[in-house]
Amino acid sequence: MDALPALSFTPAVGDLPFTPKQRSLLSLAHELGRTKFAPRAAQWDESASFPFANYDDLREAGLLRLCVPESHGGLGADFATYMMVAAEIGRFCGATALTWNMHICSTMWTGVLADGIAMTDAQRAEHAKRRELHFARIVNDGAIYAQPFSEGSAAAAGRAPFGTTAKKVDGGWLINGRKIFASLSGAADYYGVLCTEDRGDEHPDARDTLYIAVPATSPGFAISGDWNPLGMRGTVSRNLAFKDVFVSDDEQLMPRGIYFRGAQTWPAMFFTLAPTYLGLANAAYDFTVQYLRGEVPGEPPVKRRQYPTKQIAVAQMRIQLEAMKSLFGRAIAEARPNPSKDEKLRLYAAHYSVMEGANDIARLAIRTCGGQSMMKHLPLERLYRDSRCGSLMLPWTAELILDRMGRETLYEAGERDA
Ligand SMILES: Cc1cc2nc3c(=O)[nH]c(=O)nc-3n(C[C@H](O)[C@H](O)[C@H](O)COP(=O)(O)OP(=O)(O)OC[C@H]3O[C@@H](n4cnc5c(N)ncnc54)[C@H](O)[C@@H]3O)c2cc1C
Repeated sequence: MDALPALSFTPAVGDLPFTPKQRSLLSLAHELGRTKFAPRAAQWDESASFPFANYDDLREAGLLRLCVPESHGGLGADFATYMMVAAEIGRFCGATALTWNMHICSTMWTGVLADGIAMTDAQRAEHAKRRELHFARIVNDGAIYAQPFSEGSAAAAGRAPFGTTAKKVDGGWLINGRKIFASLSGAADYYGVLCTEDRGDEHPDARDTLYIAVPATSPGFAISGDWNPLGMRGTVSRNLAFKDVFVSDDEQLMPRGIYFRGAQTWPAMFFTLAPTYLGLANAAYDFTVQYLRGEVPGEPPVKRRQYPTKQIAVAQMRIQLEAMKSLFGRAIAEARPNPSKDEKLRLYAAHYSVMEGANDIARLAIRTCGGQSMMKHLPLERLYRDSRCGSLMLPWTAELILDRMGRETLYEAGERDA
């Protein structure tokens, strides 16, 4: 029998059979979000500036080390726990949740996910030694990691090697190239760059992808470009340039060849972008209910709930939200290395449903609440803009999910038409 006290709120992921640790982390995230992140969200959006104050709070609450193993001083959260907590943060500030995802992935991919990737004993030993350094930076110094992989080419879509290269030199690597859309630009202490090993021949190969941390203070590293987007404005996702940037061997976040294997072994690693948007969908739905009941603080107590058309729209929103949560809950419960074909297709379906569904719900929310609800002093128009961004995020854009799902449904691995 469950003797734990019930949560005082319904988490963004729904009412799942949470462990005590998950309950306590969800309560922490909910409280931080409600009292700190929600009141500040408009400010980052308006000025397209990074939510530094939220990061101070995340650091103080221990949430920057959420996925660092307990043996290394972290909170030791597993994949599913991270996904639940991220959705909770997303309902209060999308930009904070999305950037926090980039940081967390640098610890989750090198931590619990890497533990599920096949490595030789030598690779495992190398990885164990190197990740200690990265974990210690986060645990002891509160360091922030970014995760730039996009380059504006087919590489981030997983269809070509990265154009950014790393050439082996004595004691480390020389990095050259550029990245676009690097969230946390100027805020991160380290940039976990995906690049292709330059072996000196003409045939770059995606199997030679390297995952390397570049310290923000490295000579030859520069941030450029404006950041004035439609939504997720607080992510500050600018361009990065690397000109003969030297990093030591210790900066490798994974041994040679392991990132490529990891991406194939653990497809759910890319699903980590979704919880932010599940959080946004919850926020749009919650706002709509509050607004139609005339209960939004600071607004005139005008009720609009009596109109059948609005009741129907709320029902539609709830149905879509429940479907998203169910798929999401199932996908995080069964996320594992080497999922079955059905599990993988369900994962794609969950990702697509959340990324497209979040914006559907925000769109319905504005239509249903009406003109006065889209004013800038209310959160709905920001939720609408932020929620549009999920489907654009590589490698699993909404289009690429459809593409993968269709192909992988109709073709078994290695099958070709004559
Ligand atoms: C708010 C926000 C934050 C972000 N933060 C980060 C971050 O921290 N790190 C990071 O690396 N990226 C980040 N991104 C970038 C994101 O993941 C994408 O890489 C970016 O939106 C791609 O822009 P694009 O115009 O080059 O995309 P697209 O042109 O859509 O795609 C780039 C290339 O992928 C291939 N491709 C795309 N769609 C298809 C298709 N349907 N079929 C076949 N090939 C296709 C094509 O070669 C295309 O040229 C962020 C994006 C947003 C919106």
